[in-house]
Amino acid sequence: MKIIVVGAGIGGLRFAANAAAAGHDVSVFERAATIQAMRYPWHDDVSRTAFSRAGLDVPEGCFPKKNWSFVSPSGDIRRMYESLEESDISVPRPALNAMLAAACERAGAKLCFGINAEGAIVEDGAVKGVSASSERYAADLVVDSTGVGSPLKTGLDIDIADKSEIFYAYRGFHEKNPAPEPEHTNKVYLKHLGENGISWVITDGDVVDVLIGRLGGLDITTKERALAALKADNPVIGERIVTGGGIYKIPVRYPAARMTASGYAAIGDAAYMTIPMLGSGIASSLAAADMLFAIVNGASKEGKSVRETVSKENLWRYEVEFFTRIGAEHAGVDLMKRSVLKMPDEELSWLLNSKVLTNADICLLAKGKPIFITPASALQKVVSGMRRLPLLMKVNAMLMKSHRAIRVARSIPKEYDDGKINAWAEKLKAAVIGD
Ligand SMILES: Cc1cc2nc3c(=O)[nH]c(=O)nc-3n(C[C@H](O)[C@H](O)[C@H](O)COP(=O)(O)OP(=O)(O)OC[C@H]3O[C@@H](n4cnc5c(N)ncnc54)[C@H](O)[C@@H]3O)c2cc1C
Repeated sequence: MKIIVVGAGIGGLRFAANAAAAGHDVSVFERAATIQAMRYPWHDDVSRTAFSRAGLDVPEGCFPKKNWSFVSPSGDIRRMYESLEESDISVPRPALNAMLAAACERAGAKLCFGINAEGAIVEDGAVKGVSASSERYAADLVVDSTGVGSPLKTGLDIDIADKSEIFYAYRGFHEKNPAPEPEHTNKVYLKHLGENGISWVITDGDVVDVLIGRLGGLDITTKERALAALKADNPVIGERIVTGGGIYKIPVRYPAARMTASGYAAIGDAAYMTIPMLGSGIASSLAAADMLFAIVNGASKEGKSVRETVSKENLWRYEVEFFTRIGAEHAGVDLMKRSVLKMPDEELSWLLNSKVLTNADICLLAKGKPIFITPASALQKVVSGMRRLPLLMKVNAMLMKSHRAIRVARSIPKEYDDGKINAWAEKLKAAVIGD
């Protein structure tokens, strides 16, 4: 089968290596000129299990993530405590890219750099190839791994994220000033300056990792104001930017309710697979790549024709798998994120610093996992939150809605049926965003 993976995204590279190893004819079109020029020059947090589950080595240069300290809108700080074994690891992007690209080359996938895809070639709702760098390339299957700004969705019935569901983030690694070592090395400011988003300051060796993220857009004035506030609170942030320093986009919403069509499958940020609370998408992209491969390769091994293998009916099974194993929880977390951002600053500050949220709850939130309440923990929360019973009830209602969103997401039609899928997509949207 002829497969074109567009964009050497994390999931795209992983899928390309698997598919080439299984004997398919795979090309990866990447607009960057080289592996080194691809994506981001920094390190990112990934759960340890992401690599072991995929049977991959942990890339070179990884180190354990330190515990977060959450700064509430009132300025109070709550530190989370997690053992080193449970913590995420910080993974250097260039090493991860190089590792995944090397696996592609070993398996015989062709990595084509400097090719910019302009769009998918669509005939009767099915994708037949890609237009790229003014040429037309035919393919049986196009895997869209171009990230949040995918140019391949035009003419297809695939979800497009609203601007308000995208995090616009400044990320710069600043030189460290010769100031005293901060007490909290990994600070994340929730609803920083009362705005719709977060900021963080991470002091790592001799650089300070600064992120200022806002939903829906980040103009220069807002960025400069937030940076000045962070500098005033964190004298370690130096002027000179060592690396990064741009404004980047991250989808922070539940996964696309339609991420496949005949001859087409989106993966990673193109399908909004990031954890909505945090914007972390490396682990789910790797997992999704293996799910897509299992569906595509399974069909070939069962003797299905190429046409049947890439049909919307077969590729739908990939989406079902993703939603069942990962995406449904993201829907619940998306609802929590939307509710938390709507909370008055005073309520959020109280909640974060009260015993209503246990250390275990905070650790779950820091990993972008939904919170589940057992009868025992409910009792403990009621006792801790007695003074603010109305707020506690509000939080309880939010958690109930979050669990409902997860249940709705899990009720994804297991077989392809346009009418049922449309009804489910509407129900899911209403469950997460409201009518
Ligand atoms: C500031 C920031 C911090 C983050 N922190 C974390 C973190 O700590 N942990 C984590 O798990 N995730 C993090 N993420 C998210 C993570 O980067 C993504 O979820 C993950 O990389 C999956 O994205 P992707 O590979 O699908 O897309 P991308 O990383 O966007 O890659 C898309 C690729 O496609 C190429 N491309 C795009 N358009 C075209 C085109 N038209 N033609 C050809 N090629 C094209 C691009 O050059 C790029 O190489 C962060 C993202 C940002 C921006």
